[in-house]
Order: sequence, then structure tokens, then C-alpha cells
Amino acid sequence: MLAEDFEISRLAIPAVSLLISFLAYTSQYFFYNFKAAPLTLDEGWAINVLALCIWVCYFRSCFVDPGRLDPKGKSVVHSQQEKDQSTGRQRWCRRCEAYKPPRAHHCKTCKRCIPRMDHHCPWTANCVSYFTFPHFFRFLFYTVVGMGYLETLLWQRASIIWHERDMPSYLGPSVPQLVHLLLLLVANTVTWLGIFILLIRTVWSMLFNTTTIESWEIERHETLVRRARVLGGFLEGPGGVKIRIRKQEYPYDIGLFSNIVHSMGDSINIFSWFWPFASTPDRRNGWSFETNEFEDPSVTWPPPDPDRIPIPKDSFPVHDPDIPISYASARDQVEAFDRRQAADMDRPRPYSTVQRRKRFHERFQEEPNYESDEERPPGPVYSNDPDEGEESWRNAEGERLRDFGVDEDVEFYDEDDVPLGLLMEQRRGRQ
Ligand SMILES: [Zn+2]
Ligand SMILES: [Zn+2]
Repeated sequence: MLAEDFEISRLAIPAVSLLISFLAYTSQYFFYNFKAAPLTLDEGWAINVLALCIWVCYFRSCFVDPGRLDPKGKSVVHSQQEKDQSTGRQRWCRRCEAYKPPRAHHCKTCKRCIPRMDHHCPWTANCVSYFTFPHFFRFLFYTVVGMGYLETLLWQRASIIWHERDMPSYLGPSVPQLVHLLLLLVANTVTWLGIFILLIRTVWSMLFNTTTIESWEIERHETLVRRARVLGGFLEGPGGVKIRIRKQEYPYDIGLFSNIVHSMGDSINIFSWFWPFASTPDRRNGWSFETNEFEDPSVTWPPPDPDRIPIPKDSFPVHDPDIPISYASARDQVEAFDRRQAADMDRPRPYSTVQRRKRFHERFQEEPNYESDEERPPGPVYSNDPDEGEESWRNAEGERLRDFGVDEDVEFYDEDDVPLGLLMEQRRGRQ
């Protein structure tokens, strides 16, 4: 499966380049030989200039670095993880072992945290991020304009052929020409429609300053609020921790114009939004973001999610002599944390032992009926299927987090993080 993905991602850029070449250049060959209405000089210029814009923007969407964590960020907050556990938030990346800045996500393909990650685009084999979004937007824009223009030229020729269909065939286009025109029309129309829809969605997300992943998070939050409403305002997290869930406003919608400016890399130069050679956003930006302040400053995005937080520290076995419960100094605490992580890394992790929290509804359906609360074993309930836990929650469009290229193992809690000893203890307790 991995090998398959690898091959597909390697073929994406050549395939897209081939399609651009087929549409932009073989179409000109067709027009050149189409005697009834050859390409005018202006039309020829327009096609080639638009094709050049598409090439430049596509190349930059593919090869501009989507950004990487500031190495200084690693030392920022070791205690962040513990703070997050109590509030049901997760801002610690356990792959990068670093503080995850707001709006960043860990990309499974790029193998690092990407600032303001929108999604990992399979067609550019690159992440759409704070730094690459403007290039990606221009690529979609010029593709829609360029292919829309080509579409009108192709239909003009097609309508000429249709009107002259009663003429003797030797006066009209040859069969290969007709087939070529048909192929161009089909390829151009289908691709144009697909990219046009993607452009509309992208502009929509610019207007509200939401990334594709954040739109998913907004829907996820609405679901959690609905669930919590039924359960008295709280949802249970790993280790039985109770997380308070309340409706939270999306913080990055800062007004229509500001939203667009921000999406275009904080550039207010409207001309540069459409200029294929516009510079990549300033590399110093992209780590903190202006908010609309509808919420209390202590409230962060994404909202608390009991399935996306690490297991609380209390659930780790306390008998480990290497992990004192209180620390003499901050330095000791950091060292203990590092030791714990190193031990975690050394622990053998056969894939089959990875267990996920069950889907929310299944946690209730499949639990045996205990006669009283005392009989119910403590702790959360887990799924045995590593692929079908709560991380497989999908939004209205049927997308789960990994569909955007996000590393779900980072974003969703899994039981693999619990030391084996504790697992055995829990299981013994349950039997
Ligand atoms: Zn990361
Ligand atoms: Zn990526």
C-alpha cells in the first residue's frame, strides 16, 4: 500500500505536466492545421502567455518549501503537553517532539509540522501551507482562466465543423483532426470543471480565513457540542478524564478583506495576488495569527476534543523510580520528560498492539450492562480495529482527517502511547 502511494505521488507531477502540454500545445497544432479558422496572432499570444503563467504557478506550487518548525520552537514549552491534557487540547507534536504552533498540523507525506496547513495536495506533491497557498491559488486561477479561454476557442471550431457538416468531406477536417478535437474538448471540459469547483472552494475558504482542515475542525466541533449537550456538557477523554465542551467561535475570521490579505501571505498588494512571480510570504511569519477576539484570550483553536488529546500523566504507572511525581527544578522535570519519551521510543511497538478509542457511539452500544457503577471498570473503552476508531470520524463530505494528508497518529490519541504495563493492568482489572 505504501509502495503504491509512493508510485502515485511520483507520477502526479509528470502526469499534470503532460496534461498541461497536451492542452496548451497540441491544441495549437490543431488550430494551425484547421484551415477554416486558424489561430489568430492575438489568440496565439493569449494561449502561450496563459500557459506560461500556469507553468510558473504550478512549478512554484510543487517546489516552494511549505515551511518547517523553527528549531527554537522545540525548547519552548515542555510542560505544554501536561497543560493540554487537563484542558482537552493538543498542541504538542509527538513526531516532531515540539510545540505545535496554532494552525499547524503534522503532514504524513512531508513528515513534519506544516505552518497553517491547508492540505497536502497529491497533484502538486506538496503541502498547501501559509507559504505555498498564494502560489496554489494563482495556479488554480490561471488554470481556470487559461482553460476557460481554450474552451471557447475549441467550441468556436467545433461549431464551424457542425455548420459545415453538409459540405463534401474532403473540404472539411480529417478524421484524426476530428478525434484530436474531441479529445481536447473532453479533457479540457472535465479538468476545467473540476478545477473550477476547487477554485470556488478555495476562494470561499479565503473569504472566511479557514483552511480545508479547519473547515473539518469546525464540523467536528459542532458534532462534539451536540454530543456533550446530551451528556451534561462533558465528554470523557482517555483515562476517564472529563472534558468540558461548549460552543466556541472560530477565531481567525477577522473580516472579509483582512481574511483575503492574510490568506495571500499578508500582502495588501492586490496586483501581487495575481502576479505569478510574486514573492513567497515572509518566512518569519506563519507561526502566530491575528484573532477576532470574540472569545476569551485563554481559549484556543482547535476546541477541546477528548479524542485528540494525549493520555493524562496520572494514567502512567507511578511505580517507575525514574519518574518522580514532583520535580526539584524545572530542569529535572524536562530531563524526566525526555527520559520518558526516550523510553517510549525504545518500547517495541508491533503494529497489532496499537489500539484506538472506539467510535463514540460504539462506546455506549457495546459496553456490557453493569448492575452498578462500582462494577464498571475504570478507564475508557478501546477498539480492536486499528483503523476504525473515533479517528475515522468523517465530516458531511465524507472526509476524515487523513484525507487532507494529516498524520492521524499525531492528531488522534491512540492507546499505543500507554505503557504496556498499564495496559495489562487495565485488562486484568476488566477480566
Ligand atoms: Zn510534527
Ligand atoms: Zn505535506
